[in-house]
Amino acid sequence: MSDKITDWIRPGIRALSAYHVPDAGECIKLDAMENPYTWPEEMVDAWLQRLRGAALNRYPDPAAHALSERLREAMAVPEGQALMLGNGSDEIIQIIAQAVAAPGRVIMAPEPSFVMYRMIATFCGMEYVGVPLREDFSLDLDAMLAAIAKHPPAVIFLAYPNNPTGNLFDADDVRAVIEAAPGLVVVDEAYHAFADASFMLRLGESDNLLVMRTVSKMGLAGLRLGLLAGPGAWLAEFDKVRLPYNINVLTQVSADFALENIGVLEAQTAQITADRETLWQALAAMPGVAPFPSRANFILFRVEADADTVFTSLKANGVLIKNLNPAGGPLAGCLRVTVGRPEENSAFLQALHSAIA
Ligand SMILES: *Cc1c(COP(=O)(O)O)cnc(C)c1O
Repeated sequence: MSDKITDWIRPGIRALSAYHVPDAGECIKLDAMENPYTWPEEMVDAWLQRLRGAALNRYPDPAAHALSERLREAMAVPEGQALMLGNGSDEIIQIIAQAVAAPGRVIMAPEPSFVMYRMIATFCGMEYVGVPLREDFSLDLDAMLAAIAKHPPAVIFLAYPNNPTGNLFDADDVRAVIEAAPGLVVVDEAYHAFADASFMLRLGESDNLLVMRTVSKMGLAGLRLGLLAGPGAWLAEFDKVRLPYNINVLTQVSADFALENIGVLEAQTAQITADRETLWQALAAMPGVAPFPSRANFILFRVEADADTVFTSLKANGVLIKNLNPAGGPLAGCLRVTVGRPEENSAFLQALHSAIA
């Protein structure tokens, strides 16, 4: 390889490995927190009709006005709070980091949590401080407060519910973190549709609180659309970093249409939430398997058997889930399954049963 690469690509980037997304092939796909349901045929037809009118020759509306209004209503963004859209919430994390990045500045999050917080901090040349969760994956408030005092973070990301653990942090602990934080706290509500808990209505109580959501886990992962709600003064700064046409024409039209029919998505997410309980009970009843409580559309569970072997066996039997054992530490022995259709969940349970037998 050329010395030019070692000369010019930053060491922090060279040390990274690219975010790996495995090919599901013919497998039942329960690895990525996707909604497994499609739309009724009439709805698909109406959507295609709407797409006919999309002006692909024009740049998209840079502020996505119509879609923003629809999202405000669908996500119950409080009056007076601003909204910024991103090409997935991943892009919003990146925009926030770019706006605060400077050498030595810190992004903080509990560990284990969403890997993008750490990766994006690294992309932006920032320090990342991960604060271990307790053994039951609850927030270790004392450890968080100590870390905040020691490494004052520009931004703290709190996934609520957390990924990959699935639990919801104690709301009072989250409030204590917001109060102690010298900078921003972003409450990442990617799994809002399954959680029945939110900080959205608390926006405005603290001038450093932002709430981030995405339509991905609700059933629109293919569109790439996330949103950030919070005080206008903060969002005006982030909006300077946002690339002008980050939400493309097809996404604007399609998301607007889907949210117009939000009842269909809500029925699907309600079904998934109910099926999560059935799946959780089945896992809890299986010897050698211990599921962690979940308020999301996935379940983290630990197996007594070798987790890598269980994962490989499931895959060989046509079921792809996520193996978290390689992450080690508190995730040793852990696997994560996304709640699928009832028949997919049954196929998974059967494959798991034979994997650990
Ligand atoms: C999936 C996920 C995201 C990313 O959502 P996109 O909008 O699809 O980029 C963000 N945060 C958490 C905690 C997630 O699990």
